[in-house]
Parts: sequence; structure tokens; C-alpha cells
Amino acid sequence: MYFQQTIHDVASCTDVGLHTGKRVRMTIRPAPPDHGIVFVRVDLAGHPRIKACPEAVVASKYATTLGQDGAMVGTVEHLLSAFGGLGIDNALVELDGTEVPIMDGSAAPFVALIKAAGIRMQRRRRRFLVIKEPISVKDGEKEAALLPFGGFRVSYTIEFDHPLLSNQTYLLDFAQEIYEREIGPARTFGFLDEVEGMRANGLALGGSLENAVVVGAGRILNEEGLRFPDEFVRHKILDALGDLWLLGRPLVGQFRAFKAGHSLNHRLLRKVMAVARSWEVLEFPSRQHWREFMLGRSAAAMA
Ligand SMILES: [Zn+2]
Repeated sequence: MYFQQTIHDVASCTDVGLHTGKRVRMTIRPAPPDHGIVFVRVDLAGHPRIKACPEAVVASKYATTLGQDGAMVGTVEHLLSAFGGLGIDNALVELDGTEVPIMDGSAAPFVALIKAAGIRMQRRRRRFLVIKEPISVKDGEKEAALLPFGGFRVSYTIEFDHPLLSNQTYLLDFAQEIYEREIGPARTFGFLDEVEGMRANGLALGGSLENAVVVGAGRILNEEGLRFPDEFVRHKILDALGDLWLLGRPLVGQFRAFKAGHSLNHRLLRKVMAVARSWEVLEFPSRQHWREFMLGRSAAAMA
């Protein structure tokens, strides 16, 4: 996609927040070019705004929380993933609570909501964040990295100490249709033996079998089973795409993750911001220039 995009009509939905368990109404409005994704807390005095960007991340445990001047908005990653998956650069997201509604625990309801409202192409070219040098962060054996690549590719491996998801790997060469079909519907998941501990800490209060896959000892508790045999790694990619959309520009590069999660993703984003020589921001005068640049990158990566 060569031009910036926004939502065409206003779109709304209501549901509980995964962690607070409180009902929240969310309204997505169109926004002008170069505006980015901005959240508005309409329930607070002065309607404070929080711009989606790496600097706004204030908490990474279990979900992505953004904050600015004391106002916060939580569990933004599935909505940001839908924006990234559909290529929505600009939108104003109003919330009358502290958390984005969880819906069914995937990005599919947001994809459907945005597509029903329509996607509008804007007369402003996109600026791409092109990875020039490998950049990575580690935490023990866990790793998240961005590498030069002629396109946008995500490769992800998870390993859990559980027979149902001991090892899953997924490679995604990004395209909107593939995102909508293969990644967007993958639901968030949790382990039954962790849920009690989370609830004692005031987390997952809105979580249920309606909005999460719950993994018990040796089996999935959800009666309907899984949407994909490897739904878990697909959801980790969904989360990562949401976190990467905080960069505010489409990536040209490969994101590679091994047992990573939100906190490692955010550390990677902060490192990208800090190491300016590892990337550049490019705008292309025509689609032809853009295509030729991508082909050149692929050839260089293979040489
Ligand atoms: Zn998630």
C-alpha cells in the first residue's frame, strides 16, 4: 500500500475489558493524513489524548498499556494489530474506560468493524521504516530482532512447558488477505493454573471462555476447540504486529522472534528508536520506485 489510509465512517463497539472486567464503549473516527493513531479518554476531564508510539508504552506485562500525562489506556495491541493488518495509518479512538474492549480475544471483530465502516485512501504518501542493519534484544534465550528484508516478513517460534504448545513456528509474508484469514482470528490464550494468580492481582477479571483460549492440564477447556491447530503462535504474531504498529509507519524488514512477548517487543522498539543508523525513513515518488526498491532489497538480502 502506497498511500496513507483512514477509516471511512465512524464505527463503535462495546464489550468488557479483559483485565478490568468493566464495560467500555469504543468509537473509531476518521483522522487526517500524518495524524497517526490517537486514543482519547472521553470519560476523563479534558478528554486527554494518548498517541500510539513506542515512547507511550508504560506497561508491558500480559498486555500493552499506553500512557501520557497520567492518562492511560490498556490492552491496545489487538486493535493496533487490526489497524496494522488493514493498513489504517490514521484514526481517533475514543474510549469511556481504561481498556480497549476484548471482544472475542482476537482481532477479527475489529477487522470486521473497520471493513464495515470502510477504508478510505488518503492523498498523502506513506513513509516506510526501512531496516538497514540487524538489531536485536535478548532476555536469556528469548529474542526479538529486526533484520533487513525486501518486504515485510514475520517469523515466530514459541515454546511452552506444556504438551499442547511445546513448539510452534510460523512464517508470515505479510499481505492483508493473509492477515485477515490466518492471523486476525487467532485468540488470546492463558493457562488455567495462572488464571487464579492473575485474578488475585486484579488481572483477567473480564477473561472467560468467550474471549480467550484456556489451556488446562492436557486439554483445551473451550468446548469449540481451537480455530487453528497452531492458534497460539498465530496469536503471538497478531500481538507482535500490534506492537510494531506503534512505530507509526509500515516496516520494510523481517521481524524474528523466539519466545518473545510484549515486554521484549517494546524493548526492541525502544532500541530501534535509539540506534538511528539501523534504519531509515523512506518515501517513494511513485509505486514503480517503491516496487524497484523492494526488488533491490530482496536481491541484496540474498547476495
Ligand atoms: Zn494478545
